[in-house]
Amino acid sequence: MSDASDSNSKDSVSRKDFIREIIDADLASGKHDGTVTRFPPEPNGYLHIGHAKSICLNFGIANEYGGRCHLRFDDTNPSKEEQEYVDSIQEDIRWLGFDWGDNLFFASDYFDQLHEWAIHLIREGKAYVDDQSFDEIKANRGNLTEPGTDSPWRDRPVEENLAEFEKMRAGDYEDGKKVLRARINMAHPNLNLRDPVLYRILHAHHHRTGDKWCIYPMYDFTHGQSDAIEHITHSLCTLEFENHRPLYDWFLENLPVPSRPRQIEFARLNLNYTVMSKRKLLQLVSEKHVNGWDDPRMPTISGLRRRGYPPEAIRNFCAEIGITKFNAKHDIGLLENAVREVLNRDALRRMAVLDPIKVVITNYPEDQVEEVDVINSPEDESAGTRRVPFCRELWIERDDFMEDPPKKFFRLGPGREVRFRCAYWLKCEDFVKDEDGKVVELRCTYDPETKGGESPPDGRRVKGTVHWVSARHAIDAEVRLYDRLFDHANPDSKKRNFLDHLNPNSLEIRTGCKLEPALAEAKPGEPIQFERIGYFCADPDSKADALVFNRTVGLRDSWAKAQQKGG
Ligand code: ATP
Ligand code: MG
Repeated sequence: MSDASDSNSKDSVSRKDFIREIIDADLASGKHDGTVTRFPPEPNGYLHIGHAKSICLNFGIANEYGGRCHLRFDDTNPSKEEQEYVDSIQEDIRWLGFDWGDNLFFASDYFDQLHEWAIHLIREGKAYVDDQSFDEIKANRGNLTEPGTDSPWRDRPVEENLAEFEKMRAGDYEDGKKVLRARINMAHPNLNLRDPVLYRILHAHHHRTGDKWCIYPMYDFTHGQSDAIEHITHSLCTLEFENHRPLYDWFLENLPVPSRPRQIEFARLNLNYTVMSKRKLLQLVSEKHVNGWDDPRMPTISGLRRRGYPPEAIRNFCAEIGITKFNAKHDIGLLENAVREVLNRDALRRMAVLDPIKVVITNYPEDQVEEVDVINSPEDESAGTRRVPFCRELWIERDDFMEDPPKKFFRLGPGREVRFRCAYWLKCEDFVKDEDGKVVELRCTYDPETKGGESPPDGRRVKGTVHWVSARHAIDAEVRLYDRLFDHANPDSKKRNFLDHLNPNSLEIRTGCKLEPALAEAKPGEPIQFERIGYFCADPDSKADALVFNRTVGLRDSWAKAQQKGG
């Protein structure tokens, strides 16, 4: 059904969680002869890593059980929904490796049916039009210790309710004037059953139904019935909806629905150093704290994609954390490790210098160019080798040299010798400073007997290897170094304003970085390791004459270390 099902990655390892156990039992007992699940996003924002958990669960079940998973847009709130979001959501799910086939649905396609069912409830004496305002309704709802108060309109005769509801539909009333409510029990211990609102008046243009409706069904009245219409067998949602389940079931029991789906709740994904509320993500975008929904610092699927996270790593992460009934907060380092694991396997190795310092090899012929063979990946022999030009002038990382290095520093310093990866051993003979005392050039000699980086016949040893880029052949690039968007582990806590904890160093732009020529070919999304530095990928902003790379993740979890040191 999708490439997520046939990859040989961890997501095919089925660790049975409580939902899969329920499904197994339902199939064994003959209650169902297959599974139908759904992923029901509201098109009011871009998908984020939390949605990925739900996507992997719902589409994963379809793949494992040979069932289907519907993509259904829960588009009942026209004021916040947009086509842009409908499109991005589809792109993101596909990119994650899942496919809904022909099963693309919109809750708005059921508006006629839902309207009929609302009338059905009115006829049965199970719904009434309430003239109270939203505030009055809220005030009369009671609380956990006190029962609610019946609306003065609760006993409206059926005929009057029908007429009033029709007037609501026909546009005779302005927004908020009246609502349709279910007539259940104002003293019910579960507040969701205290005559919940089914329809509200909203004179708003809908992205699909246009101006056909000025009344819109509430989420609770829409969701379960949409499941029933689509013959969903297991309707999987997050724990906040546990208290809504009795209402979900009440509608199914009191309406002539074509099937009886079962709602099952699981814990949502929470990550430290991250906000996941769509409202807050929208605020980050609209107030320009980030450069759009796909800013590589965002926890959105499109942001992670742009940053270079492979979809497989996201699926592996979701499989790893599993499905439980208990809310927990996961360490974002787990996600980053899942990314490293896939990138280590898949990324081609390349040489890039982000903070360059010039090396001049004084005994190397001025015009000579050698092509040295460098392997593309130590993890994958089939990736082969490439030829990298080497000549008299090179770039290396500034921090691979120290003017006065301690003993344990195995890179360059005056009189010290190191291996230049796959090329030669070079010895630093001298260095040049500018007027400000900044070292600008290293003067080195090379040993022709160390060709390919091999040890010389005299048995001399070196401990360090540095990477390099030929100055004459280097291509310049901008490199964007990302760090966590928030500098507080729990930016989303009610106790604080998440905007106060934006990490001021979440983006560092380096210009004038020096890349080996092969990197001119890098495509966005193609994983690359800059040797000794980290994993990177070309940004979509990258142009032939102005390359831009994003750092996906460092080689190691430097954050964990920094935190331990208290830094
Ligand atoms: P909203 O507050 O706008 O309703 P939402 O995060 O619930 O936000 P939806 O578009 O309604 O957004 O979510 C679609 C599906 O994704 C739902 O089934 C929801 O339960 C699931 N989902 C959303 N966030 C998470 C999360 N953090 N972890 C797991 N599942 C999630
Ligand atoms: Mg929701």
